[in-house]
Amino acid sequence: MARTVHIIGAGLAGLSAAVELATRGVTVVVHEATTFAGGRCRSYHDSILGMTIDNGNHLVLSGNHAAMRYLQLLGAEDRLVGPPKAEIPFCDLGTREHWTLRINDGRIPWWIFKSSKRVPGTRALDYFPVARLLWAKRDRAVGEVIRFTGPLYERLMRPLLLAALNIEPSAGSAALAGAVIRETLAAGGQACRPLVARDGLGSAMIEPALAFLNQRNSPVRLGHQLHRLRASETRVEELNFGDDTITLGDDDVVILAVPPYAATALVPGLQAPTEFRAIINAHFRIEPAPYQPAILGLVNSTTEWVFAFPGRVATTISAGDRLLDTPRDALARTIWSEVAAATGLPPDLPPWQIVRERRATFAATPEQDALRPGSNTRFSNLLLAGDWTNTGLPATIESAIRSGRRAADLVA
Ligand SMILES: Cc1cc2nc3c(=O)[nH]c(=O)nc-3n(C[C@H](O)[C@H](O)[C@H](O)COP(=O)(O)OP(=O)(O)OC[C@H]3O[C@@H](n4cnc5c(N)ncnc54)[C@H](O)[C@@H]3O)c2cc1C
Repeated sequence: MARTVHIIGAGLAGLSAAVELATRGVTVVVHEATTFAGGRCRSYHDSILGMTIDNGNHLVLSGNHAAMRYLQLLGAEDRLVGPPKAEIPFCDLGTREHWTLRINDGRIPWWIFKSSKRVPGTRALDYFPVARLLWAKRDRAVGEVIRFTGPLYERLMRPLLLAALNIEPSAGSAALAGAVIRETLAAGGQACRPLVARDGLGSAMIEPALAFLNQRNSPVRLGHQLHRLRASETRVEELNFGDDTITLGDDDVVILAVPPYAATALVPGLQAPTEFRAIINAHFRIEPAPYQPAILGLVNSTTEWVFAFPGRVATTISAGDRLLDTPRDALARTIWSEVAAATGLPPDLPPWQIVRERRATFAATPEQDALRPGSNTRFSNLLLAGDWTNTGLPATIESAIRSGRRAADLVA
């Protein structure tokens, strides 16, 4: 009988493994516990706002090559949009200064030598120590490798690393920060173009994958939660979904692409990250200001990023655990007052929604990073995928998609 690969979890890791395998003609079945695909990267209809929103604004950089390849396979590369050059506008709410970071194409960072392109208040020399992150040891925190004061930190390194690592940067893993810098700033402007799913994450990254799998007779079974794995010493024998079980054939393989806490519950003895950080998004039903950029970075504020969508303005706060107990309406008011100050939109609070994802990503400390397992397990036919596996990147779309592709390669 031909081999079947059972993929558990229809987040981006599971979907990317499924798409890669289906492309290669392998029979795949995806099993997803919830009634929707996409996991932590999804769109849904919000009844308060009366519109479709994403669970969180997701920023992808053009240098995220696995994400780009995934979209190309799906014919959906035009669903992420951004400027042709790496230009990111910022506003300092403390001083009301506005500036645009302009990173030149090519690997030589000419931009740091031009005051019109670099961060105001910084000198070219300030940027050189950042390179230390590129060679940082895996047990080091960012704060042990670079200095955490001054305009370069406040206005660039902090916003960038906070967004990428989803942890207060000084406590974050220097090796993970180094990987982010290597694949973005150090790779030049063409790797740093900020891309967003203008019409939502679902239509950009999830629905095209479901259509692709459907066309290749690769079912995605929603509401089909894996309850237990039955295994011998060396291999997984049976998948138990509660009401039904699947007995695996000799060549069948399982890719477990669930979050770490679900994986450790299913695979005894598996080591995985145990600490998490929250991300808080606010969505406001209002037309963006006439010249509002698609993405605006804020510093000296609670709000970190402001996104402009048709009929909606949305914001992101990373490592937002300190705000999990703040009353929702107080948070909405604080965030809106900052958005209004930065964009010139009216100060009256528009209809709003707040989405708090408590376990948005694993905590990207050196200690938690050291707990990330590789793709292989002690069972010959069980592979792991997920943004939390050992991809060398923080928990991001790129990490999830790369892990799925790696698991697919290992099946081959
Ligand atoms: C609010 C927010 C904002 C973010 N912003 C960004 C950003 O700007 N840029 C970026 O690159 N990344 C961002 N991320 C991170 C990104 O969303 C994740 O890294 C990525 O979606 C993880 O995908 P995954 O497939 O590894 O895991 P998940 O998306 O968690 O998928 C796992 C799937 O497994 C399913 N599952 C669990 N248990 C079982 C079971 N027993 N049986 C069957 N199925 C099961 C789950 O329901 C889920 O669908 C953000 C995340 C959040 C939450």
